[in-house]
Amino acid sequence: MRIVVLTGAGISAESGVPTFRDADGLWEGHRIEDVATPEAFERDPATVQAFYDARRRAVASVAPHVAHRALARLEGALGDELLVVTQNVDDLHERAGSRNLVHMHGELRRALCTACGARPRWDADLAPRPPCPVCGERMLRPDVVWFGEMPYELDRIEQAVVACDVFVSIGTSGAVYPAAGYVALAAAFGARTVELNLVPSDPMIPFDDARAGRAGELVPVWVDEVIAARSS
Ligand SMILES: [Zn+2]
Repeated sequence: MRIVVLTGAGISAESGVPTFRDADGLWEGHRIEDVATPEAFERDPATVQAFYDARRRAVASVAPHVAHRALARLEGALGDELLVVTQNVDDLHERAGSRNLVHMHGELRRALCTACGARPRWDADLAPRPPCPVCGERMLRPDVVWFGEMPYELDRIEQAVVACDVFVSIGTSGAVYPAAGYVALAAAFGARTVELNLVPSDPMIPFDDARAGRAGELVPVWVDEVIAARSS
């Protein structure tokens, strides 16, 4: 049984990772257009680097929770038949044990060299403008997909969604991109669709099974159901 899980800000928020989805639309007091666009980086690279350096350090101090661990457990049962696609730039899925994972919006723990295109692992601060380990240029930026940029691995994600038997959206609204597009695509190709989110989506969104609640409560239950159904 092939399953594609899409995760969003809601699953990270339960680990204490703040996001733009918080009520005021700000992220630690910053507006999206000041820290999460290519134009902001061009205008004020020092502020943008400092912002992501702080985010990188903040994520290192939080831990995955039961929902992240449940998805890793599901991968243990399904192997390559489970693909987790996350919109989150933290590494909580990896730290919980997920391996078959796509970071469609990049990763805080990588840098992107705008001179040579290398994407090295990166845990230090970028504000001091360190040299790229590949080409030596001091042109590293956070390897995070900003608003107006193209997400990573869209072809691979789309192929997996088209081929899956179950599509699950966790901690993100089924009414907005990318979840809205993927749930429609999965449904069109005959997959069963499931939503596990704090706020249920519009009833017009074609989820076969929509459950409202915290990821920490819903995801382990759903994973148990899948594993039980598979072994029965
Ligand atoms: Zn480089």
